[in-house]
Amino acid sequence: MNSPVVALPYLILWIALMRALLVSAAILPATCARCGLRFERAELGETVCSCRR
Ligand SMILES: [Zn+2]
Repeated sequence: MNSPVVALPYLILWIALMRALLVSAAILPATCARCGLRFERAELGETVCSCRR
């Protein structure tokens, strides 16, 4: 029952959940789900998300 194949989706779900909590708590900046980059520049010349452009 506790094979890695079964546990992996749960692990991914937990990571996504924890990350969402951290983002909402403003510990981590909000990042794009597709490219993993931030939506807004925090530093000059920083690479940001361009998926929606
Ligand atoms: Zn993006």
